[in-house]
Amino acid sequence: MPSYDFRCKNCKQEFTVAYSSIAEAGRDDPRCPYCRSAELTRLIRRVAVMSSEESRIERLADPSRLAGLDENDPRAMGRLMRDMANEFGEDAGPEMDEVIDRLESGEDPETIDQNLSFSDDSL
Ligand SMILES: [Zn+2]
Repeated sequence: MPSYDFRCKNCKQEFTVAYSSIAEAGRDDPRCPYCRSAELTRLIRRVAVMSSEESRIERLADPSRLAGLDENDPRAMGRLMRDMANEFGEDAGPEMDEVIDRLESGEDPETIDQNLSFSDDSL
């Protein structure tokens, strides 16, 4: 059962919302239980950030964000990834920055995947 941590931008309270499925989480419009504000920041658990690159990308692939995304448009993917990287702050890492820059310049995601200048050793 997926659960997500949020911080309310209005009253700064942190809370967890549990869902019965990923699909339900994607449809939900969560509100702060303290002040009912809808201005929430999604918190990414540290453990998710520290796991392998592949599962990190998977965890980033929030169904509510991917809805309406054109997978054939690298610039749209770049924008989405930059948006997600912003939530990580300094945890995004230089390899993520490079991927985003290259997506936004219109490069094919497959090509980027195959010739990243950062190796796993640099992590
Ligand atoms: Zn609140």
